Amino acid sequence: MATYLGVDLGATTIRAVVGDRAGQVVGSHRTATPRGPTGIAVTEAVLDTVREACADAGVDPAALVAAGIGAIGPLDRDEGDVVDTPNLPRVDRIPLVGPLRSLLSTDRIILHNDATAGAIGERFFREGADHLVYLTLSTGVGAGAVVDGHVLDGWQGNAAEVGHVTVDPDGRPCGCGGAGHWEAYCGGANVPDYVSDLYDGEATSLPVDDPDAGLDAAAVFDADAAGDAFATRVVDRIGRWNALGVAAVVHAYAPRIVAVGGGITRNNPERVLRPIRERLPDHVATTVPEIRLTDEDGDAVAKGALASAITGGTGAPADR
Ligand code: BGC
Repeated sequence: MATYLGVDLGATTIRAVVGDRAGQVVGSHRTATPRGPTGIAVTEAVLDTVREACADAGVDPAALVAAGIGAIGPLDRDEGDVVDTPNLPRVDRIPLVGPLRSLLSTDRIILHNDATAGAIGERFFREGADHLVYLTLSTGVGAGAVVDGHVLDGWQGNAAEVGHVTVDPDGRPCGCGGAGHWEAYCGGANVPDYVSDLYDGEATSLPVDDPDAGLDAAAVFDADAAGDAFATRVVDRIGRWNALGVAAVVHAYAPRIVAVGGGITRNNPERVLRPIRERLPDHVATTVPEIRLTDEDGDAVAKGALASAITGGTGAPADR
């Protein structure tokens, strides 16, 4: 059986999947992304994750036909590296394609932005949709687009870095050094600080006064679901920014479908999607697309990278 590799390098988790030509996964592994201290430490963790996924599949890494990588950006595709990524702050360069090439015996290794890999997966596993966006609401915020049946990678692989679109020029700091970016409000890494910004002393079950309590986006969504009025105010604000961001994406790429994935959607997806659906008609001058949850859950990027390996980067099922 010909086998292919898909890798997702996220700010929080590294995933690798091994699959057949139809995209059926036969082995997988996931690891927490090391927070440095060097890019090479992250590279090593990626290689270990790939070895484990191959062992799970019973496949020799040297036997893989091709590999796809979906990685947090920005990317330097000429070198095959991640550079200065906002949510691994102390790591300036993460070599990926070169080290992976020395582990595998194939040269067929394609590097995409993580959300672009997600879009390729949506295309491949959803019968070749020609106009779609994959949006990830995770540690960071990112998008990948298929327009007129073409995957948009952009120069150096940095198309659709929409998490760094400015939604408020006077707004909060973003991990990239900018201000008021969509991700500065809605990326999981920034939600705890955004909660502190919004807090004005009202009663809440959230540990707003304890910086060591490990407050995260999931806790905010859980408190909202449990009826905490402050948490609901935060979640409503996040919904408002998400709707503005998605409107910008719709105007840029004219998707028929926006498939949403990423850790922020995991606990209570409807609470994330509903405000986008409700607000979008007010913000969009063109046709409002369908907003839906990805079917692939946490594996959307890894499976998209696998689909890229199988199709040579197009995601078109006909290129299998
Ligand atoms: C990065 C993007 C990535 C997104 C989601 C952002 O911080 O700049 O490249 O797609 O996070 O992981």
